[in-house]
Amino acid sequence: MSFQRLNFEEGLDLFQNADLFDLQKMAVEQRNKINPVSEVTYVIDSNPNYTNACTADCLFCAFYRKPGDEEVYVRSLDDVRNMMKDAQAQDATTVLLQGGLHPDLKLDYYLDIIKMTVAEFPGIIPHFWSAPEIDNIAEVENITVREVLQKMYDVGQLSLPGGGAEILSQKVRNRISPKKHKVDRWLHIHEVAHEIGMKSTATMMYGHREEPEDIIIHLQAIRDIQDRTGGFTAFVPWTYKKDNTLLGKKVTRETTPEDYYRILAISRLYLDNFDHIQASWFSEGKDTGVKSLSYGADDFGGTLFEENVHAETGFINKTSAEGLCSMIRKAGFTPVQRDTLYNKVLTVKS
Ligand code: SF4
Repeated sequence: MSFQRLNFEEGLDLFQNADLFDLQKMAVEQRNKINPVSEVTYVIDSNPNYTNACTADCLFCAFYRKPGDEEVYVRSLDDVRNMMKDAQAQDATTVLLQGGLHPDLKLDYYLDIIKMTVAEFPGIIPHFWSAPEIDNIAEVENITVREVLQKMYDVGQLSLPGGGAEILSQKVRNRISPKKHKVDRWLHIHEVAHEIGMKSTATMMYGHREEPEDIIIHLQAIRDIQDRTGGFTAFVPWTYKKDNTLLGKKVTRETTPEDYYRILAISRLYLDNFDHIQASWFSEGKDTGVKSLSYGADDFGGTLFEENVHAETGFINKTSAEGLCSMIRKAGFTPVQRDTLYNKVLTVKS
């Protein structure tokens, strides 16, 4: 089948109406044109946090505490150094360090963490701070996000994580996180990061207040940026976990594994300028994760040795690098370890 770029209406029609088997077939065909047919990549990583203080009050979030709350913490440079040591001891090459939107932390706090990581942990590529955090730092310092990102890049940050995207449709954002920065700001920050020389990932959290067209609006927005910059390494969708969140009381629908497979497949087809689509054992559970690798994904995410955001919703899932490889094999693929920037590190023999 020859494949032509889907427009909005075609994408929405396929997403809503295509038989899942047909969608799967098309997505796998597209995946195999871009990525080695028999391989699935993964990364050894950890996802610690430096603060849980946050002013954004997102309705879907169980992780944050309001500034002044007795459970608020802010990790010192030494604390973060110890997190890096733990990650290094487990052979991690990626640390995704993120936190809430702290009202007072200055840019130097963040730059010191990047400098310490680059100097003391050369095997770890800093993959720190989501777009809302970058906006928050710029606000605290009263400078532009370009200045923040440039200073971070200059001391060694090469990659920005895609958190904070949720659904890039302002209508949905107004319902689930009205105080968080607007869709245009998330997109602008990633585009500026790419212009400076950083790579980044794009994420999507679905399964709450969005409609099918909001999913395609999201895919269209990141596809447009990718056309201009080529700076996104991968797209990473996951389902909303509603326990312990204010929004959870209002969301009555339950997402199914089939919903996830459909999201992966339409992402692969719509994002024709993305090399990598990531499926997750972590956010979807191991069985669904293994099956989802047959719906157009070519990457299985990471080991996530430390993770606190999903854990606050009561959703806890653990594995090791060996466990991750064995899930990839179970799905019929050869595991290939990669780094943060999707460079291959090692093909894992069985
Ligand atoms: S999702 Fe992020 S920005 Fe929103 S409340 Fe939670 S920590 Fe804050």
